[in-house]
Amino acid sequence: MPTLRQLFLANNAQTTNFPLLLEFERAEGVYMYNTKGEAFIDLISGIGVSNLGHSNPQVVSAIKDQVDKYMHLMVYGEYVQTPQVRFAEKLISLLPGNLQSVYFTNSGSEAVEGALKLAKRFTGRAQIVACANSYHGSTHGALSVMGNEEFKQAYRPLLPGVSFIRFNELDDLELITTETACVIVETIQGEAGIRVPDAAYMKALRARCTQTGTLLILDEIQAAFGRTGKLFAFEHFDIVPDILLLAKALGGGMPVGAFIASHTIMDALKDNPILGHITTFGGHPVCCAAGLAALEVLLNENLIASVAEKEALFRKLLVHPAIKNIRGKGLMLAIELDSFDLNKKIIDRCIENGVITDWFLHCSNSMRIAPPLIITPKEIEKACKVILEAVEYYS
Ligand code: PMP
Repeated sequence: MPTLRQLFLANNAQTTNFPLLLEFERAEGVYMYNTKGEAFIDLISGIGVSNLGHSNPQVVSAIKDQVDKYMHLMVYGEYVQTPQVRFAEKLISLLPGNLQSVYFTNSGSEAVEGALKLAKRFTGRAQIVACANSYHGSTHGALSVMGNEEFKQAYRPLLPGVSFIRFNELDDLELITTETACVIVETIQGEAGIRVPDAAYMKALRARCTQTGTLLILDEIQAAFGRTGKLFAFEHFDIVPDILLLAKALGGGMPVGAFIASHTIMDALKDNPILGHITTFGGHPVCCAAGLAALEVLLNENLIASVAEKEALFRKLLVHPAIKNIRGKGLMLAIELDSFDLNKKIIDRCIENGVITDWFLHCSNSMRIAPPLIITPKEIEKACKVILEAVEYYS
């Protein structure tokens, strides 16, 4: 009889170089449990998804309630489906400015695709500016705005008219012109190894976009919902985007994404006969019910309030000569080591010792620290002990 792992390798397409190949049976809170019942502390949160931890009872119950009512009824935006209406209403109540119109998708990549189309339609321009070392997803449009040539070259030709600026470089902002439809930027870069821009840069970026009539798209797919110590990461910089992209933690563990803009901007996708934008499953009622419950738990339990303290504890404990730097904000952190080789060995040893972590797509010498926000100081101490032991072992 083949094992599950053998079946996985044989039947499930392998599209990454180093699959972690861990087998888990259940997960609760910050812990994941393997088939032997051994507990692992999750320092990844499924890449920024499980901000409330795994199997939050209120989220699970919202999912069950909605499944009992209905699942899919119709292409998103055609019927009035309560979970989508309530979820959009709640999101809008928390957003500043005129970010008042929500379009739900199935994933982060699809939110990116929709936003790029929207920017083209609204501005009537075709040029797109993106940042070096960015990650916005794996579909063709999202890949076109990825700031990593190595990952893209096999898929060319991609979207025409995309140019790149350096992230957090004031000098490059002049490359945004009156020909530019949109600039797409991660508010805090994730797969680049967690890069926090300067407030002055973000303000200048906002100003340049306004000056040139370019739409500012902020991708907070990885950074929103308390991950950085604020509900939305742009709150750190006192700016508001024209289009906001959400996914990952948005669904409380269920797949849903969104692009959000003002009514005026969003209306550009409305006019017929040119097809605006449609999706069968985007904003799935069960996912919206889960997302609404997750957002309520996040706010009612005030989970964001302790994020800065938890960041400080990680920074205080993770001190070792082999740790070159800790980058990031809140519970979106990167530990910088000397090389991928060393990082990989340390990560493997952490996993053997019950702590799950990973590296970054565009920054392989850095280790990810992105636990559920509910992690306790005791659990942080436990995880840091395992990390430090592994760092020491290979130093
Ligand atoms: N943008 C950012 C910043 C991301 O981190 C990701 C996923 N890692 C995406 C977009 C793509 O999201 P998805 O995998 O849901 O398509």
